[in-house]
Amino acid sequence: MAKTLSEAAARLAELAARVEPDQRAAATQDGLDLLAVAAGLKPVGVLGCDDDRGDWPLGAAAVAYELDLGFQPDALWYPARDARQAGLPNWYVTAVAARRASQNALYVWRDPALEARVRQACARGRVTVAEEAALLGYPECCVAQHHAQALALEDLSIAAIVRQVPDDDARHRLAAAGIVPLPHSPEEWRELDALRAIAPEPATSINRCAACVADPDGPAGQLGRRYRELARALDYPVSAPAA
Ligand SMILES: [Zn+2]
Repeated sequence: MAKTLSEAAARLAELAARVEPDQRAAATQDGLDLLAVAAGLKPVGVLGCDDDRGDWPLGAAAVAYELDLGFQPDALWYPARDARQAGLPNWYVTAVAARRASQNALYVWRDPALEARVRQACARGRVTVAEEAALLGYPECCVAQHHAQALALEDLSIAAIVRQVPDDDARHRLAAAGIVPLPHSPEEWRELDALRAIAPEPATSINRCAACVADPDGPAGQLGRRYRELARALDYPVSAPAA
């Protein structure tokens, strides 16, 4: 029995309200992303399904099924590295594979033609800027800046681990656990903070680029308005603060 969008919105809001407070805003946003996929506003949604979400992942998958969406649990994507950035050390490559094996996200889509593309991207584990922007319905300018930051953070983490830990096995264990050695100077802290900084577009999972932050009518701002209209139309709570 297919649910209406309004019924799905009410169910997702109820599920998000049951999530622990520190995960509630993220679960609420993921619920809106699921509704945006069902409404045809977003091609593919990537919903967080960590253990600390409680009943939310199973409930969200049930709603996706009832809305006739395709869905698949898999690991999160990493940004693709170009030839200049290739050549990662083996201990890091195996650490990323170990991290991905324990990650759990739920991919959802409405157009059946997207299933093969989602599966291919998940199998490769890394996606290009154009691919991620097209699949997730994000502005390419924002994805480009996000990828550049994520790859620089990856390089910084590898360099820091190499500098502080002499043994490849120990390096692998640190990276597999997602532990980044802490900076040693104010300059290094500033660099790390800058690379970790995000500027979400309210009511979306878009991490805005500098140009979109400066221009509320830019690609991210325009998309954000459509998400906020969808939330209002479905009487769905928007957790993000106003811009
Ligand atoms: Zn942008």
